[in-house]
Amino acid sequence: MIAGIFFKSTKSLNLSQCMKVLVSQNRSYTNKLNEQQLAIQELARDYANTYLKPRASKLDLEGRFPFDEIKHITNLGLMGACVDEEYGGLGRDYLSLAVAVEELSRGCASTGMVVSIHNFLYANLVNEKGTPEQKERFLGDYTKGAIGCFALSEPDAGSDVANIKTTARRDGDYWILNGKKSWVSSAIEGSAAAVFATFDPELKHKGLACFLVPLDAEGVFRGKKEHLMAVAVVCARAVTACDLQLDDVRVPAACALGPAGAGFRLAMEQLDQGRIGIAAHAVGIAQAALDTAINYAKERVAFNKNLTRLPSVKDRLTDMCILVETARLLTYRAATDVSTKNSSMAKYVAGRNATAVADHCVQILGGRGLSVKYDAERHYRDARGTQIYGGVTDIQKRLVGHYLLKEYDAL
Ligand SMILES: Cc1cc2nc3c(=O)[nH]c(=O)nc-3n(C[C@H](O)[C@H](O)[C@H](O)COP(=O)(O)OP(=O)(O)OC[C@H]3O[C@@H](n4cnc5c(N)ncnc54)[C@H](O)[C@@H]3O)c2cc1C
Repeated sequence: MIAGIFFKSTKSLNLSQCMKVLVSQNRSYTNKLNEQQLAIQELARDYANTYLKPRASKLDLEGRFPFDEIKHITNLGLMGACVDEEYGGLGRDYLSLAVAVEELSRGCASTGMVVSIHNFLYANLVNEKGTPEQKERFLGDYTKGAIGCFALSEPDAGSDVANIKTTARRDGDYWILNGKKSWVSSAIEGSAAAVFATFDPELKHKGLACFLVPLDAEGVFRGKKEHLMAVAVVCARAVTACDLQLDDVRVPAACALGPAGAGFRLAMEQLDQGRIGIAAHAVGIAQAALDTAINYAKERVAFNKNLTRLPSVKDRLTDMCILVETARLLTYRAATDVSTKNSSMAKYVAGRNATAVADHCVQILGGRGLSVKYDAERHYRDARGTQIYGGVTDIQKRLVGHYLLKEYDAL
């Protein structure tokens, strides 16, 4: 039934008709999605339109974590979209999760970011790399409401991951963790985190290991919420990010994820996934900015015409449409064909395009574009963050260049 509604080709339409379809239905790429992916897209879109969109501005202004919204999303199964069914997940593919994140972010960027990080950087990691015992303990509850985090960054190790200073010292059947992680999204509300630490700083990236750490463990202290420009408690201002101080935290050896020394590889592989999530998040924000701009331009009159009839506004809207669609195509491609090059390229393009689209949106709304009574300035703040977290755009470009030259045997 869903396929019947969505399998409409846009091939024979001209650009303005095509844009109309994109904006009103956002179904340009959906003829490439299978029935399961379409169903999850519809589910997330319906929830986003009905519940998230009307609440997004308030959540952002109050910097309030979207507790109720995440509870609903948990009930929809989307806090374990790719997790195996035996651990309470939906067992779907990355593209299903990406379209869900896109739709939720279109309704509320903060909520979309929480869902993205929990799934792509925590739940999928435990689901794919955890032992059965680890999955039982660190996954079962995490599809039912508990929130997971990814604690890689530190004050002196953001882009430079190999410079991690948090230490892991073996003590019998335990590891003892000491150090400080920074910018850990959802750590204030979260129940566990994948924490990366070094057991031998001399080994640099080869000395890293990953541990699953309950955030109520003795010696774990949460810092204060970072006050950010965008995504509410963090960058979408309703998202929360904070430091995690680890003082002699005793972690059973059974909570080490993968062998000691595999931490860097685990982090990089998971970031390949995480970047698909952030790219999808950016596409949702960009789509929301395009929606906002068109809806405003349709109503606003200047020089006795609706703004949509002014060539410069039409031109901006057309640019926005193209930016959204190119980012979406790269993101969906990265979700179906996962590689560092594809996910870095998707994140690079989606983050930059979302920022450009949101900038156009602010411009089209004129003075109102800067007012908190309208959505444009929020879209701009939310979009900007997608070029920072999950790896800055400069690093994504370096990664794409590296793999490009490798393909040509030209390194
Ligand atoms: C809202 C938010 C949420 C976050 N959530 C998490 C989270 O959940 N978990 C987590 O682990 N981290 C998280 N982070 C941290 C985030 O991933 C880092 O901020 C990011 O990787 C950049 O690191 P940095 O801030 O230390 O910047 P730096 O590494 O200091 O980089 C600063 C700038 O220097 C330049 N630069 C640095 N290195 C290079 C290079 N090799 N080549 C070219 N240019 C370079 C770039 O212009 C870059 O923008 C979050 C951050 C924010 C803002």
